[in-house]
Amino acid sequence: MRSSRWYIAILLLFSGPLASGQVRQEIHFPDLPGQRTLKCDFHMHSVFSDGEVWPTVRVNEAWRQGLDAISITDHIEYRPHKNDVKTNPNRPFEIAADKARECGLLLIRGAEITHDTPPGHFNAIFLADAAPLDTKDIYEAYGHVGRQKAFAFWNHPGWQGPERGQWGEVQTRLFENKQLHGIEICNGEVYYADAHRWAVEKGLTLVGNSDEHTPFSDLPWTATSHRTLTLVFARQKSEGALREALFAGRTAVWCQNRLIGPERYLAPLIAASLEVRPPRQGRKGAVWLEIANRCELELQLQPTGNARTQMTVPARATGLFKLDARAVAKGELICKVLNCLTDPNQPLEIKLTVPTPTAGTQPAGRQE
Ligand SMILES: [Zn+2]
Ligand SMILES: [Zn+2]
Repeated sequence: MRSSRWYIAILLLFSGPLASGQVRQEIHFPDLPGQRTLKCDFHMHSVFSDGEVWPTVRVNEAWRQGLDAISITDHIEYRPHKNDVKTNPNRPFEIAADKARECGLLLIRGAEITHDTPPGHFNAIFLADAAPLDTKDIYEAYGHVGRQKAFAFWNHPGWQGPERGQWGEVQTRLFENKQLHGIEICNGEVYYADAHRWAVEKGLTLVGNSDEHTPFSDLPWTATSHRTLTLVFARQKSEGALREALFAGRTAVWCQNRLIGPERYLAPLIAASLEVRPPRQGRKGAVWLEIANRCELELQLQPTGNARTQMTVPARATGLFKLDARAVAKGELICKVLNCLTDPNQPLEIKLTVPTPTAGTQPAGRQE
């Protein structure tokens, strides 16, 4: 009797929803004053539409990859596995919810409203119930989105069809009805400059997601090969704070080797990521400058007024650069960050403070 109880206890331990001893990578982007930087992906699929994984796998992957929040957004109208998998659009969330709670991952109930282009696909997240969205009439579906106070965004604009990339009648109507809140400016590895322009023009929240259908690779991330994420600047890590920040537009998108977002968030984020060390004097009016980069993005810095100089500091590493001493003589260095975009053609500009040389080093700008 005793041994069978032990057997059952051990079985429960190892067959529980969360496997013990897993390892999580950390994604390094600093918090902003008063706000936490949450790493999020609001668009992915499971076997409940055209994906190839069970919903709990999405939770495991997200935890291991260092994310804070995800939404599993299966297509409502496109379900190629429907003969094998039941089709209730709330099931992916319900199945994954326990595991997400055990991991401390925020799991947001969502779905992809899937119509031909135009108007294309839209995600609704923070839904209370995805089932009523299963209707052919997109405006009826959006009526439910509005009543449930969900956050809605236009997916992968420019994906397919002769009308791709067009802001159409449906978008206008949804936008005017305040039923369209964001736009996916990056989907997987694709950046949609037109969509970014519309987002800036109309004040829509910038969103970037993986739209993954297959299992994620376990290969280490690199500067150009990583999961596309939305960084959300939320007052705390909670569903309510995440929702509030999305509606307020406090986001940036990390895609390939770019960070894209409003200047008011990118500037403090990059400033908090960089450390400029006291310069050391070189030969012939030059100085040597160490710049440390604590964030996950490789930073491509270009001193303003000097288009020929580019200083690339890899993620979580330090670069050493030779500059004309006059560039830092005033104790500051103004740089464009070429791969941080505040607008499709506008790189972020930041002012870095250059500390005075410490004892034992000669002041910058003096020739040997
Ligand atoms: Zn889609
Ligand atoms: Zn999708």
